[in-house]
Amino acid sequence: MNVSVDTIAAIATPPGKGGIGIIRVSGPKAQAISQQLFERIIPARSAQLLPFTDTDGSILDRGIAIFFPAPHSYTGEHVLELQAHGGPILLELLLNRVLKMGARLARPGEFTERAFLNDKLDLTQAEAVADLIDSSSRQAVLAAARSLDGSFSAIVSDLQQQLTYLRSYIEAALDFPEEEVDFLSDRQLTQAMQALQKQIAATLATLRTGRLLKEGISVVILGSPNAGKSSLLNRLAGRESAIVTEIAGTTRDVLREHIHLDGLPLHIIDTAGLRESEDVIEQEGVRRAWQEVDRADHVLLVVDEQKGVTTADQKIIETVPKDKPLDILHNKIDLGTEEAKRFQQGNVTHIYLSAKTGAGMELLIDHLEKSVGYEQTGETTVIARRRHIVALNQVGAKVDSAAEQLQQGAGELAAEELRSAQLALSELTGELSSEDLLGEIFSSFCIGK
Ligand code: GDP
Repeated sequence: MNVSVDTIAAIATPPGKGGIGIIRVSGPKAQAISQQLFERIIPARSAQLLPFTDTDGSILDRGIAIFFPAPHSYTGEHVLELQAHGGPILLELLLNRVLKMGARLARPGEFTERAFLNDKLDLTQAEAVADLIDSSSRQAVLAAARSLDGSFSAIVSDLQQQLTYLRSYIEAALDFPEEEVDFLSDRQLTQAMQALQKQIAATLATLRTGRLLKEGISVVILGSPNAGKSSLLNRLAGRESAIVTEIAGTTRDVLREHIHLDGLPLHIIDTAGLRESEDVIEQEGVRRAWQEVDRADHVLLVVDEQKGVTTADQKIIETVPKDKPLDILHNKIDLGTEEAKRFQQGNVTHIYLSAKTGAGMELLIDHLEKSVGYEQTGETTVIARRRHIVALNQVGAKVDSAAEQLQQGAGELAAEELRSAQLALSELTGELSSEDLLGEIFSSFCIGK
């Protein structure tokens, strides 16, 4: 066990008033603090209804105290949990009482960091704790819970085992130089290598979906007034209930909405329209709209199919950077003869739809999901972050290169590549990780977690 000298304490429930407020204490002094506070030894892992007193003996509240002796606790250390009523002043008083008894205030994420350092969780699980708390959809909750449960760790450990197998096979071959060539060109070895490459690719796809579940994509909606931008937004948002609208500044400013498509968070930026204007405020609006286009993953240009692509639309099409996915949504097909359809023209996708009747909306949703690589979530989806994808990409590149070396008969180099692949993989679970990385991960937690 990792021995922490300090005993830490924090209010673990969110700020504000609530039915219950919890103070968590972890570290070597947690037991002494509980004895001093309650003037008795409380039994392990048993909910005790007790008075919570201040230094002068006055009773601040009566609540539940639970003592979890090390190592059977969240952090792996002695942990005392005080469940009081959820009043901010009351909780401050109780926290101060505990701090006076020798604990210090915990840093953000420090409880989970200790759990990680004491091998209660690996790094992907620790991250999943924060991701579970941050989840913005049911799919994200399920995926984060799976990661926390160890599904992500199991994927990594399976890849690790295969790498170990391949490496030991190749290294064994190197010990018998006279048979080395036969060994290395063995079909079983090439097949195992190909299977691993396939598995890495499949894992990357899962992780991409997992990352999208957490972060989503940003989409800018452009188009002339009355083309149907608001109607389209409402139609998209109508599929699920969670809508948050922030109206920033004036109606000429940008408007942001957050919705989910089958669990994929869509951060929609509805701009005031990109019209040429003499008006200074409107010019500022136009400047901001283009800034949003630069940052967005996707640009949707809504045109009124009855009017066709206007010169203003044409100008927008020409100005959108060529590497930015641009979809032209031909709206209001219910008023004309066009059917709902989708086709590609160069790097532009055309979709014919009606925000009013909903015709063609599935084509749009399917297109948005597919174009970012979002797959419907299932039993195997785990929550993921950018760093996981970066690390696994590195693993993939090393394995590809090992496969090439192997084909050339360069066993030693192949083994070396597999070794670096293993190192990159162990960064994922935190077996090998820098102080900087740990600091970055845990500092983004809230205090008390
Ligand atoms: P915005 O200015 O681009 O946000 O456009 P709105 O969403 O406010 O729509 C302008 C007008 O077009 C409204 O009267 C809408 O009811 C109408 N409209 C929007 N989409 C459709 C559609 O698909 N079919 C029909 N018939 N009318 C639509």
